Amino acid sequence: MPRTKVLIISDTHGFLLPPLPAADILLHAGDLTTNSWPSEYSKTFTYIAAHPAPLKIVIPGNHDRSLDAKFTAANPYTSAARRADEVRASAEQARALGIELLLTDGLHNYTLPNGATFSIFVSPYTPHFGDWGFQYYTGKHTFDIPACDIVMTHGPPSGILDEARVAWHRFEVEHAGCEKLLEAIKRAKPQVHCFGHIHEAWGAYMAHWGTDGEVDDQQSRYLQRYAWLQPEKRKGPLTEEQKEKVDQFAKDKACVVDLADGDDKIVPGQQTLFVNAGMMDELGHLSKAPYLLDLMLPSTAKATDGQISTS
Ligand SMILES: [Zn+2]
Repeated sequence: MPRTKVLIISDTHGFLLPPLPAADILLHAGDLTTNSWPSEYSKTFTYIAAHPAPLKIVIPGNHDRSLDAKFTAANPYTSAARRADEVRASAEQARALGIELLLTDGLHNYTLPNGATFSIFVSPYTPHFGDWGFQYYTGKHTFDIPACDIVMTHGPPSGILDEARVAWHRFEVEHAGCEKLLEAIKRAKPQVHCFGHIHEAWGAYMAHWGTDGEVDDQQSRYLQRYAWLQPEKRKGPLTEEQKEKVDQFAKDKACVVDLADGDDKIVPGQQTLFVNAGMMDELGHLSKAPYLLDLMLPSTAKATDGQISTS
């Protein structure tokens, strides 16, 4: 079982990315742009392509509506539709640069140069909220997620790192995640489910699955929450442990979670690490750390020749 480093970024919205640590896999969970402008895509793709990870998997989010053929066909007079051809050309260029840009729901298998072989299910779709791309009306999208190692969606599942602070509710917290997605995750029980979309719910939650198939709240715990980084939103001062962790993010250029060893070692099938990697803060800056996970993934019997293989 090779140890594999998985770097997770999300909601970078066409901004210049901060320096990122090296990894075996780079995952971007969507919202590559703010306005779906061709210049935003090319900036994002150029930066991702330059990252040393041998495998880079990218999905769009609701902001990336010019990549949603259904949206552009239904809204031909929007700027997203008018510039869709240009954006498609940019997407082809990204693929030519080795980026796995995946625009629909699906399961993919990869073998890495380190011998790790794994399956990942991806979906760019989020519940309807305004006039955006890759959306569905609540309850109308079935996530057919089979058993797999990693799930990456743009949006969170219901009740887990999905707390949106909604302006017209006087900034009361509303759970914006999807019920059907949570149901699908309960069945698939991947080692990791990563997403973004709800920026203010950045964090990581180690969920233990109970014998009834539900999340066992007693045994589950938050590893990080966005509120820790915002002194005015905390109820009390940071604990020493939290303070150490926050200092460490800056040093590591990421929030590192070791799922292969130590206190956070994961038991596949019994635990799932949920990660909301939305990097944008409420002031429009990419101020939150990406996630860098150490993961044990299944390995192939035969050694690989340093190439990525897919199936
Ligand atoms: Zn976003």
